Amino acid sequence: MLTTLRRIIQDVTAASSLDEVLNLVVHHVKKYMAVEVVSVYLTDFERKQHVLMVTEGLKAEAVGTVRLGLDEGLVGLVAQRAELVNLDDAQLHPRFKFFSESGEAKYHSFLGVPLIHQRKVLGVLVVQRKLKRHFAEDRVTFLITLAAQLAGAIAHAQASDGDSVSRIRHSARERFVAGVPGAPGVGIGTAVAVYASVGLSTVPDREVTDVEAEIAAFRAAVKSATDEMRGMRRRLQRVLPVEERALFDAYALLINSDSLMSGTIERIRAGNWAQGALREVIQGNARRFEDMDDDYLRERADDIREVGRRILLHLQKRASTERDYPRRTILVGEEITATQLAEVPHKRLAAVVSGRGSSSSHVAILARAMGIPAVMGAVDVSPAKVDGRELIADGYQGRVYIQPSAVVRREYARLLREENRLSQELKELKDLPAVTPDGVRIPLYVNTGLLADITPSLKSGAEGVGLYRTEFPFAIRESFPGEEEQSEIYGQVLRAFAPRPVILRTLDVGGDKALPYFPVVEDNPFLGWRGIRITLDHPEIFITQMRAMLRAASGLDNLHVLLPMVSDLSEVDEAMRLINQALGELNEEGVPVTRPRLGVMIEVPSAVYQAESLARRVDFFSIGTNDLTQYLLAVDRNNARVAKLFNSLHPSVLHALVQVIDAGHKYGKTVSVCGDLGGDPAGAILLLGMGIDSLSMTVASLPRVKWVLRTFTRRRARALAQKALEMEDSVSIRAMLNNALEQAGLGSLVWTGRRGEE
Ligand code: PEP
Ligand code: MG
Repeated sequence: MLTTLRRIIQDVTAASSLDEVLNLVVHHVKKYMAVEVVSVYLTDFERKQHVLMVTEGLKAEAVGTVRLGLDEGLVGLVAQRAELVNLDDAQLHPRFKFFSESGEAKYHSFLGVPLIHQRKVLGVLVVQRKLKRHFAEDRVTFLITLAAQLAGAIAHAQASDGDSVSRIRHSARERFVAGVPGAPGVGIGTAVAVYASVGLSTVPDREVTDVEAEIAAFRAAVKSATDEMRGMRRRLQRVLPVEERALFDAYALLINSDSLMSGTIERIRAGNWAQGALREVIQGNARRFEDMDDDYLRERADDIREVGRRILLHLQKRASTERDYPRRTILVGEEITATQLAEVPHKRLAAVVSGRGSSSSHVAILARAMGIPAVMGAVDVSPAKVDGRELIADGYQGRVYIQPSAVVRREYARLLREENRLSQELKELKDLPAVTPDGVRIPLYVNTGLLADITPSLKSGAEGVGLYRTEFPFAIRESFPGEEEQSEIYGQVLRAFAPRPVILRTLDVGGDKALPYFPVVEDNPFLGWRGIRITLDHPEIFITQMRAMLRAASGLDNLHVLLPMVSDLSEVDEAMRLINQALGELNEEGVPVTRPRLGVMIEVPSAVYQAESLARRVDFFSIGTNDLTQYLLAVDRNNARVAKLFNSLHPSVLHALVQVIDAGHKYGKTVSVCGDLGGDPAGAILLLGMGIDSLSMTVASLPRVKWVLRTFTRRRARALAQKALEMEDSVSIRAMLNNALEQAGLGSLVWTGRRGEE
């Protein structure tokens, strides 16, 4: 059974259209279950009907014409109950509905199972037989297991295959793929699919459009690979004996060998693109060596593959940098990296759609920092199938429309106009202080990690940088940046904002933030080697970063240092020891440095419970509500399947916030929030009410939050926070806060601040 299931799923996932998916399903099921009828009904949500989409066994003319109301017939019963119905004689059941055009009069036994994707019934899979007997347990479990896996493939095909979907008349309004909100805003543009760099064996064949350009790209990649080999040989001169270094000469010779060069060029001329042609030649050559008797020669197959991999890397690098991006590019990928995002010229990037991740993934955070709308967790958007098509990405609601109708496009154009109007209004707040009507000043800072953000941040009226994520400059390089390079970057931020405070966070990699040159492979990366755990294990990285920060701040005096992912007091003690070491070294070197203010991120539950001890050690707290929510609720911030459970307004998160704020204040320390909750208008009300000292957020959120603060008194916010803390679920809390925003005349923030979690 397992093999059959696997084969069916494999076929179905490789299918290119909804029709093909459905035909494959009925064909395989009929064969394996040896039944007379197999049919699939899909739900037409606009017309509120289940429509017969495909059948083997019933009359062909019934397809598209047999339609049942949502609670009609046995199919309706299966869908309503969202569970299987197994009958020995369907015709005796009170819900049986007879369709003369289907020719089902002769079939008695009936087994219907629902097709459910993300809790939604998409349709029903039905098998029927003449025999009057219940379906046996093994048949039933087979069909249930199959249906559970098929539903995803059907949803996927429905999403990418507009034509087949329109056959069941989904309304334009409904024809979107659901994801989760990643970064607010709406992008209308052309999809550009991006993929992770693939290994040689997985490079696909692709038709070449410009043969000469492809040959030139191949020659250039060969040249770069040869230069690289020679460079390696030179660098290893002092450490390797001459005979070992000869290996690099051998590689260089192999790269330029006639069989590789002319073989690949020949295949490009035959119509394959350079990457596919290279794969063919390398695999052919490697196979010939593998077949040899001589051990030494057999091992040369590995050398050939290594050479192929090197050339491929250069080809892929060129392909990504030379790409021609449309004027309004919507980047679509199963997983989008920071580098891929950075490759698109900023003006051309209209939105980002990622198959994986959620609003707290780092790509989403980066998108927010850049003011680019993003939809995350859109698992049913297939990058290859939407490439080049028109898309609308709604980052507020987490929806993607593929080839939207004129009605949908018009509606979104209207929303964009409305949003621009709101931004215009908010601009007027730029130079006004963030002070509540009862006189409480709450400084507003920005979260950033990009130098490009400095000017917009200053223009937005930010009073400093509340979180500078140093991992971004690390992520877009090819090796760890040195002290000089880092100091230059930090200096630009510190100088631009001086005398206003700038909080530089020490490197927070691990989790979902991998550095291309420092791979960390773990089973549970978010519970593993991450943030301060890595930098304390590599004091050379920590000290280099600290020296760079201290040198950059020399003479400015606005540096604050923030430690990420602290889960144990000893980590703070150890970090302080290293900071002292860096200070001592620089003093000895005659660099005028001053001790920075030191803070910890409160983002792990253990830090909440030891907040008082932490407060005794440091100068300030910055609460990372993204990770705090992830770790308190045990919900992976990147997993789209559980994205609905990720909610920073969860009562347990709110109670933790109060505890941390009170602990900080008990020792006279300032407490800020730099997680996303601080940039959410509803969250800002609560935090104001809880007594927060300052907030840090993306540039885009800043004017909205300022508007909230200038509208709500602390007194009113305190009453709302008190009420929220007595509530038992986040849906009621969100509703209560939205209501308060609307009553205060800030209703437009409810729409544009919508997170889609409820
Ligand atoms: C957080 O966890 O809330 C936070 C601000 O840090 P990051 O999102 O970079 O992990
Ligand atoms: Mg964090």
